[in-house]
Amino acid sequence: MEVTTIKGQIIKGKPVADQISENLIQEVNELVKEGIHPKLAILRVGAKANDLAYEKGALSKCQAIGIETEVTELPEGTTQEQYIETLQQLNNDPKVNGILTFRPLPEGIDEEVIKQVIAPEKDVDCFSPLNTAKVMEGDTTGFPPCTPTAVVEILKHYGVKLNGANVAVLGRSMVVGKPVSMLLLGENATVNICHSRTANLAEVTSKADVLIAAVGRARMVTPEYIKEGAVVIDVGINAKPEGGGICGDVDTDAVLDKVSMITPVPAGVGSVTTSILAKHVVKACKLQNNK
Ligand code: NDP
Repeated sequence: MEVTTIKGQIIKGKPVADQISENLIQEVNELVKEGIHPKLAILRVGAKANDLAYEKGALSKCQAIGIETEVTELPEGTTQEQYIETLQQLNNDPKVNGILTFRPLPEGIDEEVIKQVIAPEKDVDCFSPLNTAKVMEGDTTGFPPCTPTAVVEILKHYGVKLNGANVAVLGRSMVVGKPVSMLLLGENATVNICHSRTANLAEVTSKADVLIAAVGRARMVTPEYIKEGAVVIDVGINAKPEGGGICGDVDTDAVLDKVSMITPVPAGVGSVTTSILAKHVVKACKLQNNK
């Protein structure tokens, strides 16, 4: 009897990001020919290392694609009123098509207030409740958050069948778990949303054709959580328990023989998010120019 071995394929984010960039360069060239220049504005308070790292990636991605950029840095201790005033200036600036704000906002600036201020049509990373509602409604005219969108783009890029697929999402946060579940539902997957109170967790996830891990627990997902031949997307970014570098929510080495495909950490989902941001800026620009 011939035995077929399912071999784990590591699916990286870079080819997905490169494909998105290639398409965007063409779209931006077309817009520029018509005198339209897509532009992203970044609004940051202080200089937190994580914010700066993401900003650097976003700026270089946008610049490589031909998207104009502008960064406003407000000093630590900026009041809510000052923040709102700056955000409203960006809302009203006709040259700015997309606005990225860093969250969590510093103490003294209430996210619940600010999310009502950002113009929904420029809100390229789903801060405004209007864009959140559009994700839930399956309305594709909005801007879903970048990380969940990156997950779906990766699955599509690698030809993973979602229509009718049994998907388990591990995590129910508004940042990853819930929105990615809604986006996958929009792709006609049957989605099981799991969390810390899910009974018999491994039993549930091991029935899934596609497993999305977004729990924030280093290497929690071990072989018993996974169906033979499943596709696994590891969204987790955790400090390695043994120190030195980051690892995902999945114990990649332990599950590699069981999965058909798995994203690495680093170089997986995280490398696609700024491409999605750029894609949203171009989409916003087109919508604002009736294209
Ligand atoms: P949260 O901490 O907000 O949410 C974690 C979710 O996992 C919760 O729903 C929680 O359940 C669930 N959970 C925690 N422990 C367990 C457990 N033992 N069993 C089952 N479910 C559990 O995290 P985020 O959603 O913000 O982020 C998730 C991961 O993704 C993190 O590692 C984060 O760093 C990473 N991330 C990566 C990004 C990227 O670009 N690659 C971007 C954003 C996040 P409950 O609701 O019951 O508490």
